[in-house]
Amino acid sequence: MASELEVIRDKTAMRRWSRSHRSKGKTVAFVPTMGFLHEGHLALVRAAGALADLTVVSIYVNPGQFAPSEDLDAYPADLRGDLHKLADLEVHAVFCPTNLYDYGEGGGRGVVQARRTEGAVGSPGSSASCLEAAAADGSGHETWVRVEKLERGLCGMSRPVFFRGVATVVAKLFNIVEPDIAVFGKKDYQQWRIICRMVRDLDFAVKIIGSEIVRESDGLAMSSRNVRLSPEEREKALSIYNSLSKAKYAALHEQSTCQELKNLVVQLVTEAGGRIDYVEIVEQESLIPVEEINSPAVICVAAWFGAVRLIDNMEINP
Ligand code: AMP
Repeated sequence: MASELEVIRDKTAMRRWSRSHRSKGKTVAFVPTMGFLHEGHLALVRAAGALADLTVVSIYVNPGQFAPSEDLDAYPADLRGDLHKLADLEVHAVFCPTNLYDYGEGGGRGVVQARRTEGAVGSPGSSASCLEAAAADGSGHETWVRVEKLERGLCGMSRPVFFRGVATVVAKLFNIVEPDIAVFGKKDYQQWRIICRMVRDLDFAVKIIGSEIVRESDGLAMSSRNVRLSPEEREKALSIYNSLSKAKYAALHEQSTCQELKNLVVQLVTEAGGRIDYVEIVEQESLIPVEEINSPAVICVAAWFGAVRLIDNMEINP
């Protein structure tokens, strides 16, 4: 049965809500999202509901994790639809701030909800996000959380400001929502591991749960970006899942080397018409690349189909 859902836009009101419930002994589970919710997000929300008394979902497209050359402007949004979907679940509060980087009087008012800014700080290739691009007057946000080694490989190679932005916004959200538990999807494997490490290293009092990847019936990992694929690109994008499945089978049954497994994924995705960003096989916790799979590993892929970059992964437990 659906519960009464409060929509909260203000940081202080969010913290007050959480503190008032926690002071009465209630536990709070939290699911951070960027909205345009699909079944993958809803699975996280259901998992959260089973782990605590109350569930909070946040919806916020974070400019701090997008480079000015990336798709912040094109990121899909449907707040009404999202609230509708959440109203059918056991969600107690939805936190949807307008601008998490508005610090009020004299403290970064210039940080507007950032959009692509040509020629400003953070042009393509530089190490700044849309947030810095929008606040070139120096009044803006300047504190960042970096998980230094884990953020470097995989997606960090082609998105150098991404994980700095993710870790920072998640730290901010944890300080605002003050949850007992937070649920993240393994679809964003590196992100999940980075948040686990941040929580450990900075002693956040939050338990992190990793939730399994939710896929379409044909295997494509659900993603808010999938709506931007044309029907042809959608068909081609299935090569990611198919190649990962074949590579996993080969790893477990054919003693293939990691290089052979990576070559197989590159070949199948490229033949289908995708453009590979990376294929890597890494140790599950440290994300250090491996050459042989003797212990739990994960094969991670990022590839472009037209203007859409998709990521996916598969754990291999020998
Ligand atoms: P996003 O809105 O894309 O930032 O995602 C919010 C959360 O949902 C993250 O923890 C993601 O890993 C998770 N998520 C997104 N897609 C999926 C999926 N297909 N399966 C499981 N979790 C997902």
